[in-house]
Amino acid sequence: MHTFAIDGLDLKASYSKTLLEDADKLKEIFLKSFDGANVTVPHKESAYKLCDEVIGIGKKIGAVNTLISKNGKMVGYNTDAEGFLKSVEEFGELKDVLIIGAGGTAKAIANIFKNKNINTTILNRSKNRLGFFYDLGLKTNTWEDFEVKQYDLVVNTTSAGLEDESLPTPKDLLKDIFSNAKYATDVIYNKQTPFLKMAKEFNLPNKDGADMLLYQGVLAFDLFYDHKFKLEQITQYMKKAFKS
Ligand code: NDP
Repeated sequence: MHTFAIDGLDLKASYSKTLLEDADKLKEIFLKSFDGANVTVPHKESAYKLCDEVIGIGKKIGAVNTLISKNGKMVGYNTDAEGFLKSVEEFGELKDVLIIGAGGTAKAIANIFKNKNINTTILNRSKNRLGFFYDLGLKTNTWEDFEVKQYDLVVNTTSAGLEDESLPTPKDLLKDIFSNAKYATDVIYNKQTPFLKMAKEFNLPNKDGADMLLYQGVLAFDLFYDHKFKLEQITQYMKKAFKS
């Protein structure tokens, strides 16, 4: 995605992968060799801790996916949250949303919904990770104590369906949820997960996580170049990565 944007905009830059063997060395390596970087699982939270400054919603999430080198300092941002929001714009105004899962991605999405005053409920298979969301003032449930209500959007943020064919909740519960929902989206991309397949059976407009991936990249690139280019232009080039 980034290489398509760099080439399309005719910039002198390169974007490549670096394997971080020791998470503690991230800042040292980054400041020595890079102007900008994206951080992926499982380093988003440790990167947050190492930043000299975190700007925007990353502060609330406690995780960053984008790093910028500014005056010898490592500055962190989280574009996953905004990227997700942009990816569901096509569904129109959202008032009530159900997020399934309570991991890092759920934290990012829940925070951005909260910022937009969207009523958000978290549903997770176990209790352990619900405290973060409860403290944020959101409704939190496990499968056992959950009562289905009407939702504009249901989001699967679990990894159920990523490498297996499992649903993120028991089947009957998900059927009940989809019977009361307008739209469904999965953050997993390039795969018709069982979650999305069931959403289709219920005739719900739905999408996978490819646009979230695209837009978090567009927003990161925008930060790398300090808002120099139009988002539409960056998007147009990055989209080419999905066609090749
Ligand atoms: P985490 O490991 O932080 O969280 C996983 C969550 O999923 C937990 O709440 C866990 O529940 C739940 N879970 C895992 N397996 C199952 C299952 N079989 N049934 C029900 N619940 C389950 O993961 P992340 O938030 O980091 O990532 C989640 C997904 O998001 C991944 O598939 C990843 O690929 C995708 N992703 C997509 C992005 C994009 O750009 N489209 C960006 C970032 C991530 P419990 O608490 O009970 O263990």
